Amino acid sequence: MKRAAALACVAVLVMPATAAAPDDQLRVGFARPGGGYTVTVLPLETYVARVLAGEAAHDSPPAALDALAITVRSYALANRSRHRADGFDLCDQTHCQVLRAATAATDRAAERTAGRVLMRDGAPASIYYTASCGGRTEIPSAVWPGAADPPYLPSKKDDACGGGPVWTADLGAADLLRALRAAGFRGNRLRQMRVVARDRSGRVAQIDLEGLIPDRISGQDLRVAAGRTLGWQHIKSTAFDLQRTTDGYRFTGHGSGHGVGLCVIGSVRLAADGKSAADILHRYFPGLEIAPLARQPTTAPAAAPVVVSLPDEDEGERSFVDDVMSRERDDLARTLSVAAPPRVTLRVHPTTTSFEQSTGRPWFTSGAVVNGELHLLPLASLRERGVLERTIRHELVHVMTDQVLGRRPLWVREGAAVYFAELTQEPPPTPRAACPSDAELLHPVSIGALSNAYARARACFARQIAAGKSWRDVK
Ligand SMILES: [Zn+2]
Ligand SMILES: [Zn+2]
Repeated sequence: MKRAAALACVAVLVMPATAAAPDDQLRVGFARPGGGYTVTVLPLETYVARVLAGEAAHDSPPAALDALAITVRSYALANRSRHRADGFDLCDQTHCQVLRAATAATDRAAERTAGRVLMRDGAPASIYYTASCGGRTEIPSAVWPGAADPPYLPSKKDDACGGGPVWTADLGAADLLRALRAAGFRGNRLRQMRVVARDRSGRVAQIDLEGLIPDRISGQDLRVAAGRTLGWQHIKSTAFDLQRTTDGYRFTGHGSGHGVGLCVIGSVRLAADGKSAADILHRYFPGLEIAPLARQPTTAPAAAPVVVSLPDEDEGERSFVDDVMSRERDDLARTLSVAAPPRVTLRVHPTTTSFEQSTGRPWFTSGAVVNGELHLLPLASLRERGVLERTIRHELVHVMTDQVLGRRPLWVREGAAVYFAELTQEPPPTPRAACPSDAELLHPVSIGALSNAYARARACFARQIAAGKSWRDVK
């Protein structure tokens, strides 16, 4: 359920952000109103009871609460590394799971199900839940391109939630444009928006955006873009029809949330009809076992070579982004003959404004490295422009060559990044133009001027490589 998180929390114990908590405790980052987090260690079952208070439907029968308690616990344990870049396990926002003050009912549900989780191959399964699937559950890859589709997260008809809730939202063209631009889309006029493809569950798969670059967006990315800029109350799901109005668009839809996994509204109905928590879980997660969590020896987690920080609603792409990062880092280590850095952090920004504020770079730069950390524009625009993997690789080149090239002119550093980020064998034609100045690359006056400067930087760099120089000696 999408609600603002409760910020008033009782700090049980404030820990230094680096200490790892054992398995029956979680380090929870409570978002501070002004930014940043207060890290509090909570016993696992206290956490479960508080999340139930934040995420369960009002007046849920005990069996529905029990089913959700097991789901919430599994989700927390399967996603413990999510905030590694921030120094804790999980936050208290919709990004992770929302916490509220526990009630007697949620405390009892946590207690009744204590330690029980949905298991897959001996570990907590990577599962999801949604406020309402709107009558048909969804597979992960239809929401997050690149996500795996395990058999226990099928797209299945769900008569339990009865297709509700039904909703309408009227959004002005100017507001939609503002939301899309914040998500990294370019252009000053949204001339026409049209649904051009639906997935097998009937949800909107693709929308044409006439007048913008890129000129298409997935239904999920539109929902997220609108949610981040205009509020989550408008486009509640991607199961919608779209009609033009005099000054914008009317969205008529049903369901609430991404639709993957357990349907919270459906589980309430099933519990009211006498189904047990196990019945409910087997229905929404076919094939998963409900078992007590095997106690692991409490060792410090191994230092991860790749640490990825993703915004709300992009979490389903974590394993895909992790894989790209690891693969490109290893490939570049071979190509450049350098040691792979022991740890690389990537931060994907939810909006262009957030990217600009963190990096001091204009929104049309796609990516940047600040203090050794990679920063990326929102995934939607990079993905739709087909430059996501190349941008990650480009920024990794910077991280891995900076020690050698750090003091050279910018064209050497950017030239190397563009040159080694190319994923094709055919290099683009090499114009014989002057190498760009630092100012041209650092303070470009426009997108066109910047791409011209990059092309010249690459050409200057490629000329010296073609003449037999090592990348280390280009100057
Ligand atoms: Zn979080
Ligand atoms: Zn449902």
